[in-house]
Amino acid sequence: MAKHTILVTGGAGFIGSHLCLRLFDEGCHVICLDNYFTGRRENFGDRYQELILSGHFEFVRHDVIDPIVLEIDRIFHLACPASPVHYQYNPVKTIKTNVLGTYHMLGLAKRVKARILLASTSEVYGDPQVHPQPETYWGHVNPIGVRSCYDEGKRVAETLMMDYHRQHNLAVRIARIFNTYGPNMAVNDGRVMSNFICQALRDEAITVYGNGEQTRSFCYVSDLVDGLMRLMDSDTTEPVNLGNDREVSMLDLVKGIETTLGRPLKTVPRPLPPDDPARRRPDLTRARTLLGYEPQVPLEEGLRRTVSYFQQVLSGPR
Ligand code: NAD
Ligand code: UDP
Repeated sequence: MAKHTILVTGGAGFIGSHLCLRLFDEGCHVICLDNYFTGRRENFGDRYQELILSGHFEFVRHDVIDPIVLEIDRIFHLACPASPVHYQYNPVKTIKTNVLGTYHMLGLAKRVKARILLASTSEVYGDPQVHPQPETYWGHVNPIGVRSCYDEGKRVAETLMMDYHRQHNLAVRIARIFNTYGPNMAVNDGRVMSNFICQALRDEAITVYGNGEQTRSFCYVSDLVDGLMRLMDSDTTEPVNLGNDREVSMLDLVKGIETTLGRPLKTVPRPLPPDDPARRRPDLTRARTLLGYEPQVPLEEGLRRTVSYFQQVLSGPR
C-alpha cells in the first residue's frame, strides 16, 4: 500500500522530475501531470522503465487550464514555465496557467479533501526594496511589465490559495522558491545557469546582461526538493521562502564556472532585460525555524554536478 497518492503538476519539468522521483523513492504513488510545454519524459532518464513497470507511477498528459478529476491525497502544484524566456513566449497562457490552473487544482483539492502546495516564487517580491526578503515583505512589482504575467500570476495564485483556506478551510502550503538550478534544466531555457554553463562548454562567450553586478542566490535542486517535502509535511499555512541564502553576482557566477572548468572564460555584454531585479536573497528564518530546513549543497559542488550533467547532454545524441 503506497504511503500517499500524490499529484505533481508540472511533474515532467526540471524541479517536478526530481520531486516525483523523491516521492516515488519514499513509497508514494505518484501521478505526474504535465502538458509537456517545457517538461520532458526524458527527465526521468534511466529510471523511466522502472517507474512505468512499478505500478506506482502514472503519467497524465493534461493542461491545468482545464479542470480534471483524480483521486489523490496531496497535490504539489508546479505547472508553470519558470524561465523568463519560456513564460514570456505566450504571456496570456502564462497568466491562464497561474490563475485558472491554480483555481482548478484548488477545486480538485476541495472536492477530494487533499492538501495542496503551490510552487510560488521569489518573483512575488518583484525588484525588492527590502533586502534580504522576508515573507512579511509585500514586494515591489510592476503590474504591467513583461514579467507581470508570471509575477502577478503567482501573486493571484497565492491569493486564491489563502482564500480557499479561509473560505473552505482547505489545507494549503505556499513555497516561495528562489533561483534553483541543477540537472534536468533545459539547455535552451534561457536562465542564467543553463546559458552560462552551456556557453562555456561550447566555447562561446558568456552573455552577461547589464553590468553583471545584479545578484541572485542559487539553490541546488535536491535542497529545494527537501524544503518542498518538509513544507508539505508541516502545518504551516503561511508562505515560506525556500532557497539558499548565499548571494552572488552574475560576474561571481562566471568566476565560479571558470574555477569548476579550470580555465578562463570570455564574456560579452548584453542589454539588461526590463524589470530585471537588481538583488535577491531569501531570508530563510521561517524555513529554518518552522521546517528545520537547511540547504546542504554549496555552490561549488552544485556547479560541478550541473556542469557534469550539461557535458553529458551536449555530448549525447540530439
Ligand atoms: P519547468 O519549466 O522546467 O517546469 C514546469 C513544468 O510545468 C513543465 O514540465 C511544463 O511542461 C509544465 N507546464 C507548464 N504549463 C503547464 C500547463 N498549463 N499545464 C500542465 N503543465 C504545464 O520549470 P521549473 O524550474 O521546474 O519550475 C517548476 C515550478 O517552480 C514553477 O511553478 C515555477 O514557477 C516554480 N519556480 C521555479 C524556480 C526555479 O528557479 N526553477 C523559481 C521559482 C519558482
Ligand atoms: N542573465 C545573464 N545572462 C544570461 C541570462 C541571464 O546575465 O544569459 C542574468 C539576468 O539578467 C538576471 C540573472 O542572470 O539578472 C538571473 O536570470 P534568470 O533568467 O536565470 O532568472 P531570474 O531573472 O528570473 O531570477
